[in-house]
Amino acid sequence: MKVTILGAGLAGLSAAYHLDKDYEIYEAESEAGGLCRTVKEKGFVIDYGPHLFFSKDEYVQRFLNKLLKKNLHELESSTGQYSFGRFLRYPYNVNLYGAPVEIIKYCILGYVEALYRSKKKKAENYHDWCLYNFGKGYARHFMLPYAKKVWTVDPKRMTTDWIGKRIFLPTLEQILEGALHKSDSRLNYITNFRYPLHGGMSSMIAGLTKKTGHIHYNKKAVGIDVRAKKILFQDGDSIHYENVVSTIPLPEMIKMVPDAPLSVREAAARLIHNSVMIINIGVNRSNLSEFHWIYFDGDEPFYRIHFPSKLSGFNSPGGTEAVSIEIAYSRFRPLPKEDLFDLSIRKLKDAGILRPSDNIIYRNSTNLRYAYVIYDRHRKACANRVREFLHKHGIETCGRFGEWAYLWMDQSILSGRRAAEAIAGLR
Ligand SMILES: Cc1cc2nc3c(=O)[nH]c(=O)nc-3n(C[C@H](O)[C@H](O)[C@H](O)COP(=O)(O)OP(=O)(O)OC[C@H]3O[C@@H](n4cnc5c(N)ncnc54)[C@H](O)[C@@H]3O)c2cc1C
Repeated sequence: MKVTILGAGLAGLSAAYHLDKDYEIYEAESEAGGLCRTVKEKGFVIDYGPHLFFSKDEYVQRFLNKLLKKNLHELESSTGQYSFGRFLRYPYNVNLYGAPVEIIKYCILGYVEALYRSKKKKAENYHDWCLYNFGKGYARHFMLPYAKKVWTVDPKRMTTDWIGKRIFLPTLEQILEGALHKSDSRLNYITNFRYPLHGGMSSMIAGLTKKTGHIHYNKKAVGIDVRAKKILFQDGDSIHYENVVSTIPLPEMIKMVPDAPLSVREAAARLIHNSVMIINIGVNRSNLSEFHWIYFDGDEPFYRIHFPSKLSGFNSPGGTEAVSIEIAYSRFRPLPKEDLFDLSIRKLKDAGILRPSDNIIYRNSTNLRYAYVIYDRHRKACANRVREFLHKHGIETCGRFGEWAYLWMDQSILSGRRAAEAIAGLR
């Protein structure tokens, strides 16, 4: 009996890889990779947002080595933060050196106050978590403005179960060291990362699809009859299924199932996410910055930019450089009305990344409709309700939007493997 896999992103391909060939994969787009795709045009190689391997998981490391072989190199990360009209090192909490003195004072005093007053308090939401763990200086000047930008919702609405090791918790000594000196120490969850030398992150997907095969492209699932066990595709084709592994976003899955009970449809409607518009520009000058990527917490529309040719020298033609700009939006906060290229270029000039004399020699944009799951108080229970319903009908869900969780690539690979194992247990 063949397993039907919906979606040829990283999780769907990983499920296939771990299923040992007994499957068919159906992908809505004309190419595989989902979020791990790469734009290759006019000599520029630009991923859909910066995609780096920083996994410590040994199984995933071996998996990547098998796929990418010698096409992987390791870099020490250099990350920037643009705040108060100047560039600091990231994470800013241990790199305050260079920030305005008043801000440094406010952040450190706030941290000390939090250390003694509130660090032991259990935060009910992300807003309070920032205040309790870092104090009002860091929270007001760095963390909350950035959170509003990237998550597009009030941080009071967000839970804290996504944080894990994502935010580095420094000691007072580390904070003081980083405020008094320009520090070179790399205190962060990403200190080193691996990245393909050639072909961007889609080279990993190419390695994976070579191993899996069995992919049907331009096959967007649009309807699922869970009683008759039938999947209908946009082109009019339909297939019968026994077991399904789906990586399609849970709310989209439930829209396809007319038989889903009201409680499941209500749960799916409560799952919220943001989207990211990627604006890529190529410039007739190289070495635009010392950093691989930079976070922005000010009035720029973007929350992060990265420089693909800093990740691999093969990612842009000689003497040029690309800047890949990420702008988050959602139904809670739409995109700015102004032309996003003009606005981004103007703000990059204000920040000094671009010079007035620079020529923009390349433009491209990519819209990631599903980018990040937003963690609010409904997420866990509602995602569980939806997944239980689908599971009851022979549909295992996995991946970032099938688990409805903040999964990095390593976690998506493992999520696909778990789904394959669950299906194997069913057969
Ligand atoms: C901006 C950004 C930066 C990131 N950076 C990093 C990083 O540096 N390091 C890291 O480890 N992780 C990073 N990630 C996370 C990483 O991208 C994900 O963990 C991973 O790509 C998720 O894979 P997936 O297969 O679960 O989902 P997706 O990539 O979304 O794949 C789902 C697939 O299903 C297909 N599909 C959807 N609907 C249908 C349908 N109806 N019928 C058929 N097919 C359908 C889609 O076309 C897609 O191919 C980043 C994510 C984003 C958004």
